[in-house]
Amino acid sequence: MVPTVRPWGVASLDRLLGGGLETDCLTELYGEGGSGKTILCLQATLQATRDDAWVIYVDAEGVSPNRIAQISGDRLTQVLEHLLLSTPRSLDEHTRAVRAAAALARDGRRRVGLVVVDSVTYFYRLALSGDTEDAARQSLAVEIADLVSVALQQGIPVVVTNQVWRNPRDGGLEPLGGSFLQHAAKTILRLDRGDGAYRRAVLMKHRSRPEGAAEFRITTTGVESLG
Ligand code: ATP
Ligand code: MG
Repeated sequence: MVPTVRPWGVASLDRLLGGGLETDCLTELYGEGGSGKTILCLQATLQATRDDAWVIYVDAEGVSPNRIAQISGDRLTQVLEHLLLSTPRSLDEHTRAVRAAAALARDGRRRVGLVVVDSVTYFYRLALSGDTEDAARQSLAVEIADLVSVALQQGIPVVVTNQVWRNPRDGGLEPLGGSFLQHAAKTILRLDRGDGAYRRAVLMKHRSRPEGAAEFRITTTGVESLG
């Protein structure tokens, strides 16, 4: 059986991924601040709403309404009418928001085309100190399990973004969230910043595609594919 894919709407990225986002698994985007995680989430949102699907978007980091307007252009009303946005402000609220997102995706009353969690590690990182560390790991694991089951059971692509930490051993940037997240996400893209608006998405993991990279630029109206 060939898994269904949904176009991301960025030609170079869709080519790299063999058509786009797989609908039965979790896709993870990680990269430093400004690398393009949120704009790619918005690009996927824009794409999903083209055929009137709903998008469930859990925003821990404060997505810019201006940016949504810039990328949506004359489709702003259609995008906003199909966006179910939640803005949790603590780890507990975040876990509840993900649970609510999963329930909405499952109940079938709306045709959900995409679930986004940007980022899945913001409150987790804040709680990673002192005696809240175990609880934070547990919350993240519960969220990830919820999201994986939505993708698998409902056939809805799920995109999560992830922050990075610098490994002092070699100075490299690595994704947060531990091995559970890196196993659970079946497609993993690392976003690298280049000069100015240039960005590169490196395919670090995929179940059926070779490693590779896609180039794009961040523009006033969103994302422009290079190549
Ligand atoms: P963070 O980890 O901080 O959330 P991110 O990876 O989500 O960062 P994005 O918000 O997707 O990053 O992208 C931010 C980049 O987009 C910035 O480098 C900024 O220069 C660029 N950008 C934002 N608005 C515009 C615009 N109107 N025109 C061109 N580039 C823009
Ligand atoms: Mg962001």
